[in-house]
Amino acid sequence: MLAAILLSALAMTLIVGVRYLIVSGAFAWATRLRHPGLYRGLDAQMRREIRWSLASAAIYGVPAGIVAWGWQNRGWTRIYSDVSAFPLWYLPLSVLLYLAAHDTWFYWTHRWMHRPALFRVAHAVHHASRPPTAWAAMSFHPVEALTGAVVIPALVFLIPIHVAALGVVLAIMTVMGVTNHMGWEIFPRAMWRGPLGAWLITASHHQRHHEHYGCNYGLYFRVWDRLCGTDRGIGDFARAHARTARAAAPGGVPDRQP
Ligand SMILES: [Zn+2]
Ligand SMILES: [Zn+2]
Repeated sequence: MLAAILLSALAMTLIVGVRYLIVSGAFAWATRLRHPGLYRGLDAQMRREIRWSLASAAIYGVPAGIVAWGWQNRGWTRIYSDVSAFPLWYLPLSVLLYLAAHDTWFYWTHRWMHRPALFRVAHAVHHASRPPTAWAAMSFHPVEALTGAVVIPALVFLIPIHVAALGVVLAIMTVMGVTNHMGWEIFPRAMWRGPLGAWLITASHHQRHHEHYGCNYGLYFRVWDRLCGTDRGIGDFARAHARTARAAAPGGVPDRQP
């Protein structure tokens, strides 16, 4: 039994690690096509981001692997696979509940991580990415990775979710984690500048957190930031991109300081 649990934890670590490499790699590649030179001079930082992220994969993989084993073999969790077990409208609602719960947990633990002692010990690792890249998605100190790793494995015991809806939650989590650090927007300007962007977090919002620290702590939604007065609006990548273009021009000087 112990061997089976260990194997499940190992398999999940591999899945999380490979998923990270594929998704971050794909968006890093897209960045090279869309904004050539945006990550210029960040090679050492990106190597560091990848190392911390792969360590995080193990920390994420272990609780997820144990819970997955219990789900398959012991009937743990409230994950269901019979789609008629709950009304159909519950499918999107469950996704929203998971995102809202994760966002709430993230907002408050993230603010806690910004307390000076904890920041120095743990969260400084994530903020060493200046500016972050597509590889920074899971670049966390193990202490911080642990606070993130317990969320979904705990929620599956509390909130019923169809296995496919859980897949959607994990996909959103992975893609937003990468794109929010990527240094440019994949969404149309009308979306993140418009009414939807007033409540949803995309790269321009999280970039401002990496620039100014004491604001924009949220993960998916701006609700907690707005309620608690920590929302400082969204940044603008135009200046950074213009700087990259200038540096790439003949005779240009590489300069990535604001
Ligand atoms: Zn970040
Ligand atoms: Zn932070």
